[in-house]
Amino acid sequence: MPVSRKRFEWRLPGRSERWLSTTKIPLRDSSGLIVGSFGISRDITEKKRFEAELEQKGFYDPLTQLPNRAMFDKRVERLVTRSRLLGPSAPLFAVVWLDLDRFKCINESLGHCAGDELLVRTARRLEACLRPGDVLARVVGDQFTILLDDLHSESDAVRVAERIQNAMSVPLTVAGTEVFTSVSIGIALSSSGYARHDDMLRDAYTALYRAKAAGRARHEIFDADMHRRAVDQLQLETDLRRAIERQEWLVYYQPIIDLQARRLAGFEALARWRHPCRGLVMPDVFIPTAEETGLIRPLGMWVLREACRQMRTWQDQYHNIPPLGIAVNLSPRQITQIDLPSQVRSILEETGLPASSLTLEITESSLMQSLQAGAAVLQELHEMKVHLDVDDFGTGYSSLAYLQSFPVQTLKVDRSFIRSMHAGTQQSEIVRAIVGLAHNLGMDVTAEGVETPEQIRSLSALHCRRAQGFYFARPMPAEDAERLIAEGAPAYWDEALSATSMSGSS
Ligand code: C2E
Ligand code: MG
Ligand code: MG
Repeated sequence: MPVSRKRFEWRLPGRSERWLSTTKIPLRDSSGLIVGSFGISRDITEKKRFEAELEQKGFYDPLTQLPNRAMFDKRVERLVTRSRLLGPSAPLFAVVWLDLDRFKCINESLGHCAGDELLVRTARRLEACLRPGDVLARVVGDQFTILLDDLHSESDAVRVAERIQNAMSVPLTVAGTEVFTSVSIGIALSSSGYARHDDMLRDAYTALYRAKAAGRARHEIFDADMHRRAVDQLQLETDLRRAIERQEWLVYYQPIIDLQARRLAGFEALARWRHPCRGLVMPDVFIPTAEETGLIRPLGMWVLREACRQMRTWQDQYHNIPPLGIAVNLSPRQITQIDLPSQVRSILEETGLPASSLTLEITESSLMQSLQAGAAVLQELHEMKVHLDVDDFGTGYSSLAYLQSFPVQTLKVDRSFIRSMHAGTQQSEIVRAIVGLAHNLGMDVTAEGVETPEQIRSLSALHCRRAQGFYFARPMPAEDAERLIAEGAPAYWDEALSATSMSGSS
């Protein structure tokens, strides 16, 4: 027998201002005779007060008849204040921000009338997913917000989001056409302890943005990390712009050792940022942002000029030793810059460094990305006698046939291969294969990330030409690098390197 439930709203008798919404279900005996009723009531005084306010002030959206943004803000503000007053014992509530996916497309293809109809139908669907007392508003365009009060836990809000997504997945007929819609949903919970209602709305919106970015038709709950990440990123960008004017850049130098000649061959120049508050910032943190914002070009040119100037000074100062070389990293954005060769040429002229002392490192993946655009630039650099190295080799899935068509002289084997290189392991076989192939193509090999004397021995046995890594030295400021040049190789280098000559000749 179907359960006939009845719901009605009523005001408590007497002088009370309390309103209740009651749902009643008849209780029947075995013959179906009604013998009583079972009812659940909910206090909807707030909602009633709110509706009265709505009528009074006209804070509603004429198209959907829903509250508008101003009204919604007021409601959230009231609950944020309540939480502040009650502290941890305050009921949990959530702000949910929804956006119809692809609404713009539907609006433009079916016309604005159809778009309006879709919004109205959506409003009714959303209402059907909510409890009495929940507040649904249309804030702008195709965006709706919901205020869910009196939640037991976060999962209550998630359940509402899922219910909405299910309801929205059923196609609608609008203007005679069946349209498929979906919604992206962002949720902010009062448990984050908001002092201001607009912070809570902002966070729900940030979470919505995340849901959209993650592929739409999904929901995301705001967490403090999301906010921190967004703020950090913005701050980093601003600071990075200033760093150029304020000259907060430094170049660190990491020795590159010639394993066969058993001496210092030169250095790799590595950018560092001396941030006024954060201290020394590493490239992993700022290079990606510098690339996104285009700041990598002025930064890259600054590093290049500084490294060339420094190397020329050292060459002049220490002219009794074989000339050292300097390797500078290039970002993918720089390789496709048509005027890169002329910029490099003018830096070489300005600093007086011979082109043959300069190596430009291009990562394997950026080389593969800019096959077309970069080819002419690399050829021109090669004709200027600048060396070109493929950095992080082995991580970019390039084919050696492609590499052969570029004028590169050295493969720098990525440190991930060196790290797990022990005699007889698969990694050391890979390194062996890379060295063999490089030699067949007339290229040299430099091993990155060398940390132990055993690695040095194995690399020498494979006839790997050069090595760089923490075993020899970490990247260091110019003064320390200069001391190393002046004082010659430390004793522990000699030990590791002399062992190599024995294993190398065996
Ligand atoms: P990369 O060109 O592959 O530079 C080598 C990185 O490996 C350096 O990190 C270095 O400190 C680290 N390294 C060296 N030896 C060892 C070792 O034995 N063990 C381990 N675990 N690591 C080692 P760093 O200085 O943090 O630079 C990271 C990356 O940032 C560089 O990788 C390079 O791709 C990029 N980069 C640095 N400076 C510049 C620059 O001026 N311009 C551009 N475009 N990129 C730069
Ligand atoms: Mg490098
Ligand atoms: Mg590298």
